[in-house]
Amino acid sequence: MSNVVLQPLDAVADIGGLDRTICPGCGNGDAKDFLQGPDRFNGRRKLYRLVRCSQCSLVFLRNPPPASEMAEHYGSDYDRLIGKGASSLGYWEPRKRLISHYKAAGTLLDLGCSSGSFLESMRGPHWQLAGIEMSADAAKMAEARSGGQIFHGDILEASFPPESFDVITCFDVLEHVYEPRSVLAKVREWLKPDGIFYLMVPNIDSAAVRVFRSYWYGLELPRHLTHFSPDSLRAMAAVVGLETTALPANRFPAVEYSARYLVDDLLRGMGASRTPLSLTPELGIPGRIARKAFRLCILPLVHIGISLVGPEEYIHAVLTKNMSFTSTPRGARAQDLVL
Ligand SMILES: [Zn+2]
Repeated sequence: MSNVVLQPLDAVADIGGLDRTICPGCGNGDAKDFLQGPDRFNGRRKLYRLVRCSQCSLVFLRNPPPASEMAEHYGSDYDRLIGKGASSLGYWEPRKRLISHYKAAGTLLDLGCSSGSFLESMRGPHWQLAGIEMSADAAKMAEARSGGQIFHGDILEASFPPESFDVITCFDVLEHVYEPRSVLAKVREWLKPDGIFYLMVPNIDSAAVRVFRSYWYGLELPRHLTHFSPDSLRAMAAVVGLETTALPANRFPAVEYSARYLVDDLLRGMGASRTPLSLTPELGIPGRIARKAFRLCILPLVHIGISLVGPEEYIHAVLTKNMSFTSTPRGARAQDLVL
């Protein structure tokens, strides 16, 4: 990693086309094939190629859809499934606890805030809330739920004053944007000198990728354009002057969905017709009971097995402009930050 040659930002500006050969992290032009797979969520056949930069180790989608066509790869089925986890009771508690190790009050901006589930969980007298959201409907909902200032549009088009936030958060978003490095540069501009940036992204070097390869649910082809590891995230952050102060992680192999993709593919190979996950209806009561039993009895053992294969599936990084400030978070020891 110490030999990474960093190119100026201009060199990586043209990354929205259909054949990306330049690494969106460091600007290097030498990337090797990593793996390939289709959009399994929607049951489509077009193959997407992931390549890995030989310098900074970032994995990125070589042939993404143009930005003008990306909306076709999302839709209400995707929103429904993704929103399910975030709506569950207590989902945000570990994330709020991590923030509280650094900051107890102030201004907070959530990038890609969706319908405001996280912002609503932070609502109260201690925080002045803001968000950025691409979807007009979701932005409106976020404003109503959080009482915050929500910018509707692209992160790079928002114009908050420099050094205006104590905390900026970004959960499951950076991997979706075409220009992650420019977003990090914006974050650096908007953070107060002692502010923190807390982001969460899937880990391409995780055990689940080693086990399931292109069948891992978290790959989300072609919606995930950039696939980070702790090393490549640290390198990209360093390019814009952000330092990584903590890298806690959590396990999320998504065994049920990943195994479902694998089985679907096997059955299709034998000529069977399979409904893609995006169109699969909710389980009935017997199905839900069976799923509950699986989650209680089998899944913990599967997770133990997977944990022997490699690191956790999600990176929770805390970045700062000034490492010396956050090297000792408020009353926290490093092990307290593990989620
Ligand atoms: Zn690179």
